[in-house]
Amino acid sequence: MKTIVLDPGHGGQDTGATYRQYREKDFNLEVALLVRNYLLESYSANVLMTRTTDKTLTLAERTEIANDKNANFFCSIHHNAAGGRGFESYIYSGSVPDSTKRIQDIVHQEVYYAIDQYGVVNRGQKRANFFVLRNTEMDALLLEILFIDNEQDLQLILNDEFVNDVAKAVAQGIAKALSLPRKTTKPPAGKVLYKVIAGSFNEEVNAEERVAFLKDKGVDAWIYPVTIEGQLFYRVQAGAFAEKENALEQEVKIQQLGITDAFLVTEGTSEPPESDKPSNPEPVKGFSILGPTLLRPETLHQFLERVNPNAPDLAALYVELSRVYGIRGDVAFAQAVHETNYFRFTGVVQPGQNNYAGIGATGPNEPGATFATPKEGVLAHLQHLFAYASTEQPPSEFEIVDPRFSLVKRGSAKTWIQLNGKWAVPGTTYGQQILDLYERMLQLEIELVNAHIDQLEKAKQQLD
Ligand SMILES: [Zn+2]
Repeated sequence: MKTIVLDPGHGGQDTGATYRQYREKDFNLEVALLVRNYLLESYSANVLMTRTTDKTLTLAERTEIANDKNANFFCSIHHNAAGGRGFESYIYSGSVPDSTKRIQDIVHQEVYYAIDQYGVVNRGQKRANFFVLRNTEMDALLLEILFIDNEQDLQLILNDEFVNDVAKAVAQGIAKALSLPRKTTKPPAGKVLYKVIAGSFNEEVNAEERVAFLKDKGVDAWIYPVTIEGQLFYRVQAGAFAEKENALEQEVKIQQLGITDAFLVTEGTSEPPESDKPSNPEPVKGFSILGPTLLRPETLHQFLERVNPNAPDLAALYVELSRVYGIRGDVAFAQAVHETNYFRFTGVVQPGQNNYAGIGATGPNEPGATFATPKEGVLAHLQHLFAYASTEQPPSEFEIVDPRFSLVKRGSAKTWIQLNGKWAVPGTTYGQQILDLYERMLQLEIELVNAHIDQLEKAKQQLD
């Protein structure tokens, strides 16, 4: 199996290029992680990362990782700055084998082909004496995706759709250049394959633990990543069978080992019969965006008023309109409180814009969308959340007023935490901050309800 090392440039104390609140290191990591996911999902390859978090690493540490692991290919991912716009790729300016040139040709073309539709400038295939290219003992490539300090480029870097397309193209280019075998074994035409899935996990390490547990019990299993509605799951596959009976037998055997979350999936038919659908759909971990609104408008407004007595009263609108979209309107309200700093509008968005969620607002020169009325502003906010949380058609009750609805990768954030890096870039704690506010709102509601219960009890006693 071939080994690929992905190197998200900079990290930790080294931010790379910066522009306004944006830091190159965050964009590099975001793209590199997506490339890894695409590779793992579709190809047989060992994919290593020099970093998966915001961590400081020297250049020598990066090349050592690749050299120590005898990697077949090293790919460093950066974003550019300082005068220019567009995409470029680099290989070492000294002597390189033909294979390096060939990989650059293929990856560069694959990426440019995918992003040309966004109007990206092609700055070409270049050569340079960069440390990571010079000191890697294998084919090595460095990508400069776009310029973070160019307004047109920045808008693309902040666009999920674009970022996904770039990452996918980098992965496909690497796969093509290195002839990586495709992972999914497709059943023969017209035949059905029953796969036994012994658990499905958000974290790879949990899947690895499950595989180890099964191996210990004499069951051969392996990890098979799959993307469902934009979210990556690590499925643990413990056999695939042409006969359903055999698959069921294996499922029972696995359940007897104490694995209660095992299920079957079928592959090879366009319409699997109802009974063959996974009995245990991939769970959404974390607090979902879709769900019931628990808090009363009075409580929401009271929470807000304690900090800003002059705040507009929009809580009832949030509670009412969120029902149409099946969104937790109280958490959306907490998000608006966070985005507007308790409706004091201390950021770039002005109160008159009726934009409570910072839609399209990316900096001082781009204060974002303006909505005609508070109701329209709340609707746009809820529609934007719906675009992230659901892949369904939006309810037809209201027209789409969110100007960025079509730019969202549908279903790419099912939980508030998953909005990190999407609604707010890099925003590594964005969802947590919203949920912290929500937790305090819940606490307030509990106190109010308790006080109300006391009153009820007292009234009841007076009747006796
Ligand atoms: Zn860089």
